[in-house]
Amino acid sequence: MWDGRRIGLSTSAQCRTLAQARKEIDWIASLPSAAGQDVLRSLNQAYQNWWNPEHPAARPTFKRRSSALSFSLPHDATDVRHVSRKWSEVWVPKMGWVRFRRHRPINGVVRGATFSYSPGGGWKVSFGVAAKPILAPPSNKGAVGVDFGVACSAYLSSEDAPRLMAPTLTKGEEQRLLGLERRKARQLAFAKRHNDGTYSNRLKKTNQEIAQLRARQARRRNDFTHKLTCDLAKNHGLVGIEDLSVKNMTASAKGTVEEPGTNVRAKAGLNREILNNAPFERSRQLTYKVRRHGAVLVKVPPRNTSRRCSNCAVIDAQNRPGCGRTFACVACGHQDHADHNAARNIELLARTRAHADPTQTAGPAGARSKGRAHDSTGRRKPSQGRKAVGGSVKPIRSEQSGPMGRVA
Ligand SMILES: [Zn+2]
Repeated sequence: MWDGRRIGLSTSAQCRTLAQARKEIDWIASLPSAAGQDVLRSLNQAYQNWWNPEHPAARPTFKRRSSALSFSLPHDATDVRHVSRKWSEVWVPKMGWVRFRRHRPINGVVRGATFSYSPGGGWKVSFGVAAKPILAPPSNKGAVGVDFGVACSAYLSSEDAPRLMAPTLTKGEEQRLLGLERRKARQLAFAKRHNDGTYSNRLKKTNQEIAQLRARQARRRNDFTHKLTCDLAKNHGLVGIEDLSVKNMTASAKGTVEEPGTNVRAKAGLNREILNNAPFERSRQLTYKVRRHGAVLVKVPPRNTSRRCSNCAVIDAQNRPGCGRTFACVACGHQDHADHNAARNIELLARTRAHADPTQTAGPAGARSKGRAHDSTGRRKPSQGRKAVGGSVKPIRSEQSGPMGRVA
């Protein structure tokens, strides 16, 4: 449509088409109309973001079979009432009142609800709430630099030992996952050869079991990430981190057909580890958590942080002998754990930056952005943007929009 006639489809026109489709197609009609309209609004917003040169969003893509199940309702299609101290009910069109376990108070006016499903976790409901932004006064606590790494999940400049993320899967679970993946490959091959690619019930069950294990892994990773960022924001006045462009870090090593990359397998494994340690998610969480605790987040350029001596500031590639995690300065003989040395450099840089330009350090505005334009403009609130589904068209402050409760 757009390519041919330069005509865009407005959301309202699409909603009229949706109303027509609901009359004619049964399975579309079984979804509440408000939820369907919300999908169209999200789609519209996704395209607006893509067309906006200031916005980092890429071209909207189709959902995959493996995408998380979720749907959203605007505020006029839903309602919440409390049943007891722990239980509440949310109104879902076509279903009525659905009871859920309330994990935290809803402080403010509900502006919309998102229902999401995770295998093994069941259904969850999160509310967008119109609430005042939580801005704490400056906490005036100490400064800290953090080096997020692969070998050490996080190394604080103020600590002598790294914070290690416990393995997200136990040995037994890893074995089981491997077995399930093999079973899936076998069942897929069978489906292709004998069943025209139709998934058997056993294959569906295998997929579900894999999804459950992966969901458990994600919950453990989230737990570590939240506890780490909370501790950093709560107990420090200034948090320095490296401004890493995750995209560049994990760029595929495959290369092109003409120039194939080297060490593809190794890089793929490293990428998995980097993403397992979720550096971008940590930085995103820190951005909103420091505001709640009156701290300041400073992102420093990662250049040379691992090669500079934190004792005498000499930069030399020879400072990292061998491939181990030891740092040994060739100039002054200072020895340290490489990640701790980096963390101390980050802290020093962060302090210098905060001192040089105090206005430039409040949240994401101080970040040196690489390809993420909204970081440098600072106009988009970090708490608003990332949700793909959910009333993102309205200026909802979703400070409170964590998982609110589990649907019973
Ligand atoms: Zn030195």
